[in-house]
Amino acid sequence: MRKLHLTVAVLLITSPLINSFAQTKTIAERLGYPPDSKLLIIHADDLAVAHSEDAASFDALDKHAVTSASIMVPCPWLNEVATYAKEHPDADLGLHLTLTSEWKTYRWGPVESKDKVPSLLDPMGYLWPDTPRGSAESESRRSRTRNSRPDRTGDRHGNPSHPPRQPHGHALLAP
Ligand SMILES: [Zn+2]
Repeated sequence: MRKLHLTVAVLLITSPLINSFAQTKTIAERLGYPPDSKLLIIHADDLAVAHSEDAASFDALDKHAVTSASIMVPCPWLNEVATYAKEHPDADLGLHLTLTSEWKTYRWGPVESKDKVPSLLDPMGYLWPDTPRGSAESESRRSRTRNSRPDRTGDRHGNPSHPPRQPHGHALLAP
């Protein structure tokens, strides 16, 4: 029994030390470079938004002028990007969090069915052009929903609990 306690104590003591050590490493070190290295990662943004964007980004990826790219899934040229991804399984492609559609005459909507994400959509059925309007609409809908529910159980049926705050976001996927 004492040995078990000792083992647990050692684990409790060493675990924070290991975590502390890992957290003191610079990003450069974690990527295998010396700690004071200056690293430059050139990233291609907004794949799928347009064919010209895709063509330029694919060329840059193929020539190693850029080392990663992010995909806007709701945009019209997604199939072109999906084809490239299948043909280039080693390409470092991430998903671009896309919560807005900010251009006047070129818009896109959600990936999810529109009836399931009404607070993300403007009156035309596209994603809001900017986050303040999207946030205001989300908050307004949440307030109406809360006020109409006597038990105030909240947003269990599809209303987002956190309206979008940033029009651009990136989540990189490891290859
Ligand atoms: Zn972007």
